[in-house]
Amino acid sequence: MRDILPNSASDGPLHAAIQQLEQAAKLIGLDDAVLAKLENPKRTTIVSIPTKMDNGSLRVFTGYRVQHNMDRGPCKGGIRYHPHVNLEQIVALAMLMTWKCAVVGIPYGGAKGGVVCDPTEMSRDELERMTRRYTTELIEVFGPEKDIPAPDLGTSPEVMGWLMDTFSMNKGYSVPGVVTGKPLAIGGCRGRREATGRGCTFIIQEACNSMGMKMDGSTLVLQGFGNVGSAVAELVYPTGIKIIAVGDVHGAIHNSNGIDITKLLQHARETGTVTEFPEAEALPNEELLTLDCDILVPAAIEGVITQANADRISAKMVVEAANAPTTPEAHDILLNRDIFVVPDILANAGGVTVSYFEWVQSLQAYFWSAEQVNKQLEDIMVRAFHAVYDEAQRRETDMRTAAMTLAVGRVAEAISTRGIYP
Ligand code: GLU
Repeated sequence: MRDILPNSASDGPLHAAIQQLEQAAKLIGLDDAVLAKLENPKRTTIVSIPTKMDNGSLRVFTGYRVQHNMDRGPCKGGIRYHPHVNLEQIVALAMLMTWKCAVVGIPYGGAKGGVVCDPTEMSRDELERMTRRYTTELIEVFGPEKDIPAPDLGTSPEVMGWLMDTFSMNKGYSVPGVVTGKPLAIGGCRGRREATGRGCTFIIQEACNSMGMKMDGSTLVLQGFGNVGSAVAELVYPTGIKIIAVGDVHGAIHNSNGIDITKLLQHARETGTVTEFPEAEALPNEELLTLDCDILVPAAIEGVITQANADRISAKMVVEAANAPTTPEAHDILLNRDIFVVPDILANAGGVTVSYFEWVQSLQAYFWSAEQVNKQLEDIMVRAFHAVYDEAQRRETDMRTAAMTLAVGRVAEAISTRGIYP
């Protein structure tokens, strides 16, 4: 990795991902050559995306697709549209996808893609043209047996529909298996939209059971109210959990008696934000994560729990619905303070798990009911939680390290079984 990105920041997500990998490698006694293979992504593609804007001008966006590993199956991972997208971040997130797929035992390697853009400032037509050109530039990279993208920050089922259509038009026939998170009308999967949140809810349930905590009456603070955060809120609410604070990019709200989530979902649908919800007080965003609560769920972006606030986090448990929300230094502080942390590669793996179901259905052209999808998701999430929990007990370590030793061990076994070509 140091070879391909020599200037990566020492406090950035890639440095953190490598640190986690090296720590797991040491614990399982991983061969140095295999470690070197896993530190470097298999293939990195950078494309420029000339796009006609509505005012007649031309803008050239930069896009990435990083395929980290393919030893356990085709590459899998989302595409994000965000102004802060950069290569270092995409490589780190691709690596996390490899571990995520391995930890829940689905037959994929990891990938991630992104375009540096601000989708909130682009029209629907501009987004469509940019997506179609991005897909065309990566036409040889994507494919149902090679690399299957999905939604991530700033992308939606509609964007996946354009991607599927562009890929299919280039091939000359419909290829629904090239992408997941598609709209239902073109082969999407029931339950995919809320799958990350649903998976996370199963994990919260198992984590509470393991710690002898009851969900009913426990307090929860949620950072992020996008696709993942809003689904977590909607699905944990009926268990009797009291969601006492919620934040999004615009601000945060607090009500120590618990927020009525049905009303908040309605308010957010109407106004586009959780702020100014009439039945709660405004809260500065920087106070959200450090509020006194039982369960803290960061469900927004990476690097929000840092050295600067980790010693003030007062939750009993942190469940990482976002990717890489906790820096390694902050993770150590949380562990020293006996806070139970369920890592991202386990807690948010419900999304890619249902993506896997969608891909299987697309390949077979045979579709499942919502009940089938949710039941299979529950089985996989519950099994994965206990596998990681048992590994943590056995190694007398934390959940993140245990998830990593399991995942890296599985990928390493695939590598040694296949051997190095030629
Ligand atoms: N973007 C999601 C993630 O980070 C889903 C990836 C997928 O479904 O392929 O897990």
